[in-house]
Amino acid sequence: MAPRAPFSSPLAEELAGDVLERFLRYVQVDTQGAFRVAARPSTEKQLDLSRRLVEELREIGLTDAELNDGHSVFATLPGTTEAPVVGLIAHVDTTPDVNGAGVAPIVHGSWGGKAIVLPGDSRQVLDPAELPALATRVGHDVVTSDGTTLLGADDKAGIAEIMAAVSFLARTPGRKRAPIRIAFTVDEEVGRGAEGFDLDAFGADVAYTLDGSDLGELEVETFSAASMRVTIHGSSVHPGVAKGRLVNAVKLASDLVLSVPRDGLSPETTEGREGYVHPHRISGNAEEAVVDFIARDHDDALLEQHLALLRELAEQVEVREPRAKVDVEVRQSYRNMRPFIEENPRVVEAALEAIRRAGVEPKLAITRGGTDGAVLSAQGLPTPNLFTGGQEYHSVREWASVQDMAAAAATIVELAGVWAESTA
Ligand SMILES: [Zn+2]
Repeated sequence: MAPRAPFSSPLAEELAGDVLERFLRYVQVDTQGAFRVAARPSTEKQLDLSRRLVEELREIGLTDAELNDGHSVFATLPGTTEAPVVGLIAHVDTTPDVNGAGVAPIVHGSWGGKAIVLPGDSRQVLDPAELPALATRVGHDVVTSDGTTLLGADDKAGIAEIMAAVSFLARTPGRKRAPIRIAFTVDEEVGRGAEGFDLDAFGADVAYTLDGSDLGELEVETFSAASMRVTIHGSSVHPGVAKGRLVNAVKLASDLVLSVPRDGLSPETTEGREGYVHPHRISGNAEEAVVDFIARDHDDALLEQHLALLRELAEQVEVREPRAKVDVEVRQSYRNMRPFIEENPRVVEAALEAIRRAGVEPKLAITRGGTDGAVLSAQGLPTPNLFTGGQEYHSVREWASVQDMAAAAATIVELAGVWAESTA
């Protein structure tokens, strides 16, 4: 044990107990999503948590809480003053990649700084020597799973923080606040969190996802993303009589993959603002082979260049083997939210001010991924991403600091106050 780390502000300290209690409850509800399922939500069990949240919101006094279109929890906390409506968004689902059933959270109170061996699987160790963020959390109350499941801080930390903040605001009517709209979505982890999101029914003027990570971070930039499917049509012939006739699509697809840059422009060799192209799936046979790529960049013009490069490499397949035919299909996935957020700088300023009032040094960050906020921002609702205090997402070694989660909840309360000072 170490001396317990302090909270970032008296408000954070006041909210900590409720945030933790809610967090421990929510992570025990299995809400694991599934890839490649047409149904919405992709797994019915996600709604177990959604329905519970509707009930809890009503108990807090948000009487209009509902499952909006059968899956998104919507609720309103009226403001005490005329001000822009502030949206708060988090997602109930957890990643399909890691087991989310039977989560048994453990609170390592006033963590002493030694490596944490998770009791359900002793191979799973949180070693501060390898985890710089953990190394700076000596004395924090650190929450982990038992090592056999993920923890689910992504994004149940965000949900617990919103719930604790809204509960506090609802029982503290003397505190000035902007009107708040809440949304808890499904299937964020399979890229469908914002699908069919009813912006009119939501009715927010600005919004924040609580789906970030490290203390004090506000993400205002995402990747712009596209996918490309290259279908190579060869000509299959019985190998016994194939001389001069077989055009093997498997070999042509392999050549295409080999022609893709490796030293740069790939996820395994880039970081920060550097973009990439990434062949992530290959399938087929001698007659026809399909190579699926994704392309990512923070700069839309560079993303177009990456796509042009891929198209050129695909065309080269036909140049080398004129008897083959190559089809290219491009899909835009989402856009960097930065230009949409820059149109409304107050969205960022208000969040930075709220983080400061919560006693934390704010920092602007970029994400090498997308968020639901990127989709909503492109649709006209500027939605940057606030930190939650969760770390090592999508891993059985996922962890969260209670002190950091409390700071995030305090940030939400402060945010309602900052926006109340702004006229609608
Ligand atoms: Zn998330």
